[in-house]
Amino acid sequence: MQKFIKETTKKKLVIPNAVLELSGLEKGEPVEIRVADDAVIILRKKMTAMELLRAIDSIQDAALALTLHIVNACGPCEDCSGDEECPADPSRTMTVIPDEVRKEVHIPEDAKLCAWPGDKPGTVTVGQADYRYDLTDVPAWELEILASHGVCLGSLEEILMAEDVVYGA
Ligand SMILES: [Zn+2]
Repeated sequence: MQKFIKETTKKKLVIPNAVLELSGLEKGEPVEIRVADDAVIILRKKMTAMELLRAIDSIQDAALALTLHIVNACGPCEDCSGDEECPADPSRTMTVIPDEVRKEVHIPEDAKLCAWPGDKPGTVTVGQADYRYDLTDVPAWELEILASHGVCLGSLEEILMAEDVVYGA
């Protein structure tokens, strides 16, 4: 799959005909623009079965290539204590407090929480975490794929929390 980097203006993004031709899209034909979170997909407006199958294959290819970026950014487990599987798990950052308590201390609904030992024995202090994303935000199917690639979920968690640029950096 060929890639082109194109700057956008405040008003529009222009896609040269040469680019459309490379993908087999005809000049002057209408296209369908699919808007998704963090991606825009341009397809023929009308497709035969073969064209549709090739488009699906291309999108699948792109998904795989992008997945490999995350796999490389995380790398395999190194200092994790797990025997075979990375011990990092979405449930380890899952801290839940009752809604009314959260409201009382003005923690926003979508804020991440973390817990640490309280001042008195037998108590736990829960507060707003200083990061926006962790493993709990990753769709389960993507976590499964990454785990099957032997990715260190602990380091994935770190780069999610740090919001590091891992693509096109
Ligand atoms: Zn690990």
